[in-house]
Amino acid sequence: MNKLTIKDLALKGKKLIIRADFNVPLDDKLNITDDRRITEALATIQYALKQGVLKVILMSHLGRPDGQVVESMRLTPVAKRLEKLLGEKVLKLDECVGDAVKQAIAKSTQRVILLENLRFHKEEEKNNPEFAKQLASLADIYVNDAFGTAHRAHASTEGITKYLPSVAGLLIEKEIQYLGQAVNNPKRPLVVILGGAKVSDKIKLIENLLKRADAILIGGGMAYTFLKAQGKNIGNSKLEADKVETAKNLLEKAKQVKVEIVLTTDFCIVKKFDAPETLKIVKDIPDGWESLDIGPETRKRFKEVLAKAKTVVWNGPVGVFEIDAYAQGTRDVAEFLAGLKGVTTIVGGGDSAAAVSKFHLDDKMTHISTGGGASLEFLEGKELPGIAALNEKKQSVKV
Ligand code: AMP
Repeated sequence: MNKLTIKDLALKGKKLIIRADFNVPLDDKLNITDDRRITEALATIQYALKQGVLKVILMSHLGRPDGQVVESMRLTPVAKRLEKLLGEKVLKLDECVGDAVKQAIAKSTQRVILLENLRFHKEEEKNNPEFAKQLASLADIYVNDAFGTAHRAHASTEGITKYLPSVAGLLIEKEIQYLGQAVNNPKRPLVVILGGAKVSDKIKLIENLLKRADAILIGGGMAYTFLKAQGKNIGNSKLEADKVETAKNLLEKAKQVKVEIVLTTDFCIVKKFDAPETLKIVKDIPDGWESLDIGPETRKRFKEVLAKAKTVVWNGPVGVFEIDAYAQGTRDVAEFLAGLKGVTTIVGGGDSAAAVSKFHLDDKMTHISTGGGASLEFLEGKELPGIAALNEKKQSVKV
C-alpha cells in the first residue's frame, strides 16, 4: 500500500484518535447481535497499546440518527463489549466534541476512550471543517481503520486528515492488500461471482471486471435482466427494464474482450414469493412464475468454472438466501468456495458476508471484507476518499 500505516510512526507517549467502524447490529434490548466489526478493530487498538501510546481515542457512527441524539443509538453497548474483548476498562463519553470531552480525556486514568456516536452531529456527514478540527484537536495522530465508511468523505474519515498526520490502521491495510491484490494482480484464473438484487448497482463493477477477470458467473436477482437481454422468458422474476440495453452491451463487450460470462440456465421458481411449497425447477420460466434461486444445473456449471480458479471474488448472493427454501444455490456456492484448496477466496461485504456467516463458513474464506459499499466501490476501481486522504508512504511526517 502506498499510504502510511500505523506501523510507520513512533507512537510512544502519543494520543491517537482512531476512526473505527462500530456500526454493529443491535436487537430491541440493545444487545449486540454480531460483534465482528468490533473484533476486527482489535488488532489496531492492541497494536497501539503495545507501542505505549498515551491514549487511544476511538470514534465511530452507529445507525442513522441523522444529526440528532437518539438514545437507542448510543455507543454504550459497544464500550461494554470492547471492555470485555480488550480486558481493560474503556471510558465511554456521552459526547464526541467540546470542552467537556477534552477535560474528560485529560483527567482520565483509562488508556482507551470511546467517544459518542459521531452522527449525533449533522456536521459529521456534511464533512464540516470546524467539526473535523474539533475532533482533530483531541489527539496527535489520526488513524483511519473504518473500511466500511472509507467510501464516504465525512468529517471523521476525510475532513480530519487536514489537521493531523493521518495513517491507515491494520484493518484498512488488510482490506486493501486482499481486495487490491484480487483485482490488480490476481493469481489467475480470476473468477468473479456476482449476485444480489439489482443490475444497476453492479454496472460499474462489471465494466471494471471485464478488464480484469477471466470469467464472471451471474446469479441472483440481477441475472434476469441479462436473460431478458438474451430474449429469454423470465416470468415475474426481478427485472430492471431500463437496464436491458445496458445488459446487452455488457454481454457484447464481454465477447469482444473474451471474458466468459456464465448466466443462470435453470431456475427455482415459485408462484408467489411467500409460497415456497409451489417451488419447482425449470429451464424455461413460465408466465406468472418468479425465480428466486439458481437451479442444480447452474450450480454444477458454476462449480466447474470455480474449480479452475486460483482467485475468486464473490459479491452478492445468487438467490434469496435469507429464506431457507431459496438458499440452496447460495449455500452451495459458499460450501464449494470453503472447500477449495490453494485458492484465494475474497468475499465482498454486505449480503455475501451475511450469507457466509449464515452457513458458518467465515473462517474457511481467505478474506471477508468488512465493507459492503466500500468493497463494491473499491472493486469498481474507484478511489475511496477516506483512504485517498491519508498521508503517502513517501511523505515524511513529523508528529
Ligand atoms: P444486494 O443488496 O444487491 O447485494 O442484494 C441482496 C439481495 O438480493 C438479498 O437480500 C437477496 O435476497 C436478493 N436476491 C437474490 N436473488 C434474488 C432473486 N432471484 N430474486 C429476488 N431477489 C434476490
